[in-house]
Amino acid sequence: MKKIGSIWFGARRALKLSTCVAVGAAAFAFGHGAFAADAKIPVVAAENFYGDVVQQLGGDRVDVTSILSNPDQDPHLFEASPKTARALQRASLVVYNGADYDPWMAKLLAASKGAKRTTIVAADLTGKKGGDNPHLWYDPATMPKVARAVSGALIAADLAHKSAYDANLAKFLDSLKPIDAKVAELHGRYAGVPVTATEPVFGYMSDAVGLTMRNQRFQLATMNDTEASAADIAAFERDLRDRRVRVLIYNSQATEALTQRMLKLAQQSQVPTMSVTETQPAGKTYQTWMLTQLDALGAALAAGDVNGASGANSAKAAAGAKGKTQ
Ligand SMILES: [Zn+2]
Repeated sequence: MKKIGSIWFGARRALKLSTCVAVGAAAFAFGHGAFAADAKIPVVAAENFYGDVVQQLGGDRVDVTSILSNPDQDPHLFEASPKTARALQRASLVVYNGADYDPWMAKLLAASKGAKRTTIVAADLTGKKGGDNPHLWYDPATMPKVARAVSGALIAADLAHKSAYDANLAKFLDSLKPIDAKVAELHGRYAGVPVTATEPVFGYMSDAVGLTMRNQRFQLATMNDTEASAADIAAFERDLRDRRVRVLIYNSQATEALTQRMLKLAQQSQVPTMSVTETQPAGKTYQTWMLTQLDALGAALAAGDVNGASGANSAKAAAGAKGKTQ
């Protein structure tokens, strides 16, 4: 199993490509005897947003299976089935998140060691490990790294179509620009504004926007399915009741009683709420999914502004927002 463990490694691979092209292509062909020149590259992505990105980068050259694809289920509670194992068996390229988000992947891969495949782990590309916030795809810095690694792997496997993969990568990276622009716009308007969340799913994006995220211990407890302390629950409730936070971000895939209670309290206290999912909804691309959620965040922050939520920097942020259409 080859593992593209870092962007540095990815770059080195790309540099070497010009000299080991023939060798690489031949090795791939030998490793996959049944792999005809016009056959699609079998890919398994543990999460459907990585699957979507592979599809965009590979076009009609890839056959992508995504394992986690239902936005109505909690991915943290997922258990792999024999069907998952079978899909992995035939994959030439495997992409998964890592950082303990999908620990079943490493186990399944270890169980089918003989297979020749390239594995790309988002956590390795971004320097994250178990214990870090695992929702890496909400960090705007993650997907460009994953995309470059995926594109490099597709080219290594199918050099004849290099120009198409290069074009797809350029198009993909370009398509992320509106997301960066929206993040910058929200940052300019709302940096320092206090918000809270039931789970850390949106944490990296909230950081990118520069929001001050409160009640992080509570969020970790929800994510890990452990009990939040009475003090943490009380602090969370106080933030909502006293409107010390501008927005409550809640994960609609984690529906524990306590999460529901906070959602209800936010509504009663007129703290705007915003729902996020950790699985890409049907009918959306990674890009439209991110943009939809950033638009929802912008709307919730603007609504919270009208409510006059208090907070360390909200006056400054409100002043910054003056003169803009809300
Ligand atoms: Zn989560």
